[in-house]
Amino acid sequence: MEIQWNHIIGHKRVIEQLQLMQQEDRVPHTMLFSGAAGIGKLLVARSLAALLLCHEPQQGHCCGQCPACQAMANDIHPDFFYVEPENSGKTSRIIKIEQIRAMQADIARVPVLSKRQVVIINDAEKLNEAAANSLLKTIEEPSGQTVFILITSAPMALLDTVRSRCMRVEFGILQPQEIEAILQKKQAETDLIPQLAAYSDGSAAKALELQDEKMVSLQQDAMELIHNIEAYDVQKLLQKAKDMASLDKEQLMLWLGFLAMLYRDLLILHSGSDLPLYNQDKRRELVAMLEEYFLPKVFKLLHLVRSYQKRLNSNVSQQLMLEGLLIRMKDIVEE
Ligand SMILES: [Zn+2]
Repeated sequence: MEIQWNHIIGHKRVIEQLQLMQQEDRVPHTMLFSGAAGIGKLLVARSLAALLLCHEPQQGHCCGQCPACQAMANDIHPDFFYVEPENSGKTSRIIKIEQIRAMQADIARVPVLSKRQVVIINDAEKLNEAAANSLLKTIEEPSGQTVFILITSAPMALLDTVRSRCMRVEFGILQPQEIEAILQKKQAETDLIPQLAAYSDGSAAKALELQDEKMVSLQQDAMELIHNIEAYDVQKLLQKAKDMASLDKEQLMLWLGFLAMLYRDLLILHSGSDLPLYNQDKRRELVAMLEEYFLPKVFKLLHLVRSYQKRLNSNVSQQLMLEGLLIRMKDIVEE
């Protein structure tokens, strides 16, 4: 695995804070990394572990050469321990007391290759109560040689007693340009990178998930709808509402999002601003639509779609809601 800081995109402030603690030799025994899911907390935790285990760290960086660094890079460092939720008999994954006991037995030995041991507990909110209480005993009596890094995207779901023992390290969400850089690194479909970034809520993992969810066809579908809605008769609109209602909520949300982004792009084109378009790949088609979609219409349509985005979470039938939306859209276009 990657162990240097420079492969991590974003989280500069957090990383500097951690580097400083290491350099000043005031790394706490127990830390809680908290922040949204899928933003890179684990990557940061692993690089911190490599730094703490390195034999010759230099100015807040692990050397990358020593036996400890090599062992970390190959994921075989004997003083590094990683715990994450496992499948339980039920549907949800949890961290069981057996896992905590096994880790406790591991750290009871003296460090083998480095001066200390590092334990990462990922998704720590999934500790069940017995496991959390068992962990509590260990972190209440720090042995001086073990550093615990708990990671969570739901800090309030941890036991108060565990949370209060930890120094909290807060991670912010990623900036759109950071998500774009990550997507490029992961070789996402380049056409969609700005849209994926815009819809990711600052989470790289979410952006990558979205990519898999038929993004392209949903985007295309939204484009076709605003292109052709004027020509649809009522029957066709109702059929369209029925088709769209068969999507799951997340996909429907995306589809509405694409509609909103297309209208937003039309607004940008109307304004003559040089702000980047979400749908840069559709620029020519959008420019051709400006004549028909004049400014007040676009405002109304964008407002309409946004109000339906909010309504999607209510308990109204999706089909009824979509029928209402499509009919209203056609009315506005024909005004
Ligand atoms: Zn090293």
